[in-house]
Amino acid sequence: MRLSRYFLPILRETPKEAEIVSHRLMLRAGMLRQESSGIYAWLPLGKRVLDKVCAVVREEQDRAGAIECLMPTIQSAELWRESGRYDDYGKEMLRIKDRHERDMLFGPTNEEMITEIFRGYVRSYRDLPLNLYHIQWKFRDEVRPRFGVMRSREFLMKDAYSFDIDQDGARHSYNKMFVAYLRTFARLGLRAIPMVADTGPIGGNLSHEFIILADTGESEVFGHSDYLEKDIPGENAPFDDRAKLQSIVDHWTSLYAATSEKHDQAEFSKVPEKNRLSARGIEVGHIFYFGTKYSEPMKAVVAGPDGKELPVHMGSYGIGPSRLVAAIIEASHDENGIIWPEDVAPFRVGLANLKVGDAVVDAACETLYQGLGKAGIDVLYDDRDERPGAKFATMDLIGLPWQLVVGPKGLASGEVELKHRKTGEKHTLSPESALARLT
Ligand code: ATP
Ligand code: MG
Ligand code: MG
Ligand code: MG
Repeated sequence: MRLSRYFLPILRETPKEAEIVSHRLMLRAGMLRQESSGIYAWLPLGKRVLDKVCAVVREEQDRAGAIECLMPTIQSAELWRESGRYDDYGKEMLRIKDRHERDMLFGPTNEEMITEIFRGYVRSYRDLPLNLYHIQWKFRDEVRPRFGVMRSREFLMKDAYSFDIDQDGARHSYNKMFVAYLRTFARLGLRAIPMVADTGPIGGNLSHEFIILADTGESEVFGHSDYLEKDIPGENAPFDDRAKLQSIVDHWTSLYAATSEKHDQAEFSKVPEKNRLSARGIEVGHIFYFGTKYSEPMKAVVAGPDGKELPVHMGSYGIGPSRLVAAIIEASHDENGIIWPEDVAPFRVGLANLKVGDAVVDAACETLYQGLGKAGIDVLYDDRDERPGAKFATMDLIGLPWQLVVGPKGLASGEVELKHRKTGEKHTLSPESALARLT
């Protein structure tokens, strides 16, 4: 992509309305624009990152055996009357009437709809287990939308729903998502701790919130510091082996970790003092086993081995990709701007031409730009007629992992400069070696 033809509306001034660093940087880097309170347009740079986050989420869902579909954003109130949640959900639900005066709503979540789809087709326990997910916009009329896409009213959610014949099966489905979540957040460069979370009236211990520690987080959390060091399960994790998967989950739930709603001071005091984490955190994911809460009232039943009909056991599993974009920035930035982890960077390389119009520099840049493109590397080529200082500042602000700087002085001795955004390390090398290093 040539920057001269791209749409990257960088802001020079720090926007006053933004209270936290991720919100400030997203606005300054031209990723985001507020359209209404808690409602944002994703500008091209932001859209690229959001897509990359979704790609990682998707890969890990697929690996764990979940199957992607896409449900609509607008739902009928009828479904929610069946489950009994239409009245319970309260003011967070955006209620709409269509031209026939029918009650509709903008979906805040999809348990009802997925249950309706399931019961329309699945009849036998032989078709289980099943886990369906989608990545779709949700709307919740939050009392206090704030911090940009961290808590917005319209936001993107990956929500998966599992169906099993019994609780043991549901436990295994839950464990698959648990491990998939550990892997997803690690790949996004985040250390998320699974914390025991509130299960509501169903009880049990099968609900975990995945929390990233951050001072700007809205949750108060407590845990064991060893969670920050644990090894993440590999991509060949034993998803189909119930016992082995359970032991991974047991290992990851063996130490104390709880959100404030489930906090138990007596248990926490058994954690050695030097290991006690008492911090603020951001909820980036939430997994939940809720048994037959929806399948019973909505009659999602299957025939068991003896032919008798049983309501299915369900779980739901949410991740917020739009919140994650902000959370990644909270975890990875410096005073000059964003530092994207490689997997989610909008472009991998920023190529800076320090003297546009100089035939030698232009030609060298063109060769590098084409070469990187051929190797399948996403490059943002700053071919604008701008001061070098402004180009460096833009590159640092938008946080691409590698900056390739090409100027007349260096080229005179056959050299370009390759800078690693994260470490700040700079290497002077020939254009050919730079290309080889990056491909
Ligand atoms: P919170 O406690 O932050 O209000 P929640 O518990 O209401 O979140 P869930 O219903 O568990 O959210 O939804 C699953 C995921 O969707 C959350 O873990 C979070 O990543 C994301 N999410 C929820 N609400 C928002 C929001 N207003 N803006 C952005 N992401 C959100
Ligand atoms: Mg909420
Ligand atoms: Mg929550
Ligand atoms: Mg939650």
